[in-house]
Amino acid sequence: MVDALRKDLGGDVAITVVDPRPYMTYQPFLPEVGAGSIDPRNVLAPLRKALPGAKIVTGRATKIDSAANTVVVDIEDSDSLEIQYDYLVVGLGSVPRLLPIPGLAETAIGFKQVEEAAALRDKILANLAEAASTKDPALRKRLLTFTFVGGGFAGSEALAEAEDMVRDALRYYPDLHFSDIRFVLVDAAPFILPEVSEEQRAYAIDQLRERGVEIKLETFLNSCEGGHIVTSDGDEFESDIVVWNAGVKPNPLLLDDGASDLPVIRERGPLMGKLNCLADLRVTGDDGPLANVFAAGDCAAVPDLASGEGKFCPPNAQHAVRQGKRIADNIVRSIQGRPLVDYYHKNLGTMATLGMYKGVGYLNIGDKRIDLRGIPAWAAARAYHLYAMPTIGRKAAVVADWVGGIISRRDIIGIPQSSTPRAAFELAAGKSPSAK
Ligand SMILES: Cc1cc2nc3c(=O)[nH]c(=O)nc-3n(C[C@H](O)[C@H](O)[C@H](O)COP(=O)(O)OP(=O)(O)OC[C@H]3O[C@@H](n4cnc5c(N)ncnc54)[C@H](O)[C@@H]3O)c2cc1C
Repeated sequence: MVDALRKDLGGDVAITVVDPRPYMTYQPFLPEVGAGSIDPRNVLAPLRKALPGAKIVTGRATKIDSAANTVVVDIEDSDSLEIQYDYLVVGLGSVPRLLPIPGLAETAIGFKQVEEAAALRDKILANLAEAASTKDPALRKRLLTFTFVGGGFAGSEALAEAEDMVRDALRYYPDLHFSDIRFVLVDAAPFILPEVSEEQRAYAIDQLRERGVEIKLETFLNSCEGGHIVTSDGDEFESDIVVWNAGVKPNPLLLDDGASDLPVIRERGPLMGKLNCLADLRVTGDDGPLANVFAAGDCAAVPDLASGEGKFCPPNAQHAVRQGKRIADNIVRSIQGRPLVDYYHKNLGTMATLGMYKGVGYLNIGDKRIDLRGIPAWAAARAYHLYAMPTIGRKAAVVADWVGGIISRRDIIGIPQSSTPRAAFELAAGKSPSAK
């Protein structure tokens, strides 16, 4: 988007990108980060490198005042900043939707950030090492029990890829057998992978069950205090890792009182909290569209013209990236006084990887929907995401990770200590290690 704006408007344009992280995360690759197939850094595009010419502000937007054309940005350990804009593009994404389940906030980990995927990989691999060394059977069982809540695309992929990594790593653990490992997938719905056909869902469930994954459908997580899992089917067990993937909600900045004056959808339902957009991606409210505010991605309710009347674009990277490009062109059109163009994109399909050489999904080719499974689905997913991953350097690095994995197998080292880097130093100083 920044490229397109600079190309069309040249040096006359000043672009500011605000994000608390100085990099963009290509989330579709997170399951492969969680499985050790891709190095965490290689799914990140550094904003300063990827967006030459744009001013990058590393901070969190905390107030949007569209009446005054300003955004307030909080900068860590510093005064906040007020940015005046001519045009505003909102792409705040979504955040995990937590439920008031005892123990959830204290015990579970999400799967939307690279830090979470990398920490999950490290913890699972560290647990294998600890389980192989302990003589305590109860501890061993707990260390080798991994619970995933939510069987949408992100949850199913995260679990399937992690299971594949564990299976791969076990060849180096003569003390552990696959029957010692317990992967549990809990979902309130009667199916997983809602985006694919019933047949494809059944295939994915069979595939995972054949691999020993326990899939609990129409089941709720009742509590997970201290890793003691209680599910609504009456099951109780200890699990050292709980991964929460049971839904997302739009960024709270859009809903919090006084934080933003942008019009959001208030009615309960899947669009609640999203910015109401016209097909040309301008944000619109009761008084009509705002001339200079556009929105894209997971935080925007955008009419899906390719799917028909009353349909909205599903929240995925495929739409988010293309909507960004349409916004760039529409801003140029708006400045030049030309009519805006509606966003139109026919979904190319959806593909989930379920581990090495395994996958499921479909491609839309013309009017035909072609179901793929196994190696073709896995290869199609990898090829598409490689194409979509920003920057040539990162594409090359991802390919290098994949080739390295084939030649010398995935790394089996987990370093959860990287989140407590001062612990060894504190121990040497005779202090008991603090949390940081
Ligand atoms: C595990 C996983 C797998 C997925 N797999 C696929 C897939 O296979 N195919 C697919 O199409 N989609 C997939 N998705 C969905 C896809 O990644 C999202 O739909 C897409 O990233 C949405 O883009 P976005 O720009 O709206 O939001 P995001 O990519 O989430 O970006 C939002 C940005 O806003 C920033 N931000 C948040 N709050 C603030 C603030 N207050 N101030 C400033 N900046 C802020 C964030 O730091 C972030 O950089 C997957 C998602 C996950 C989590």
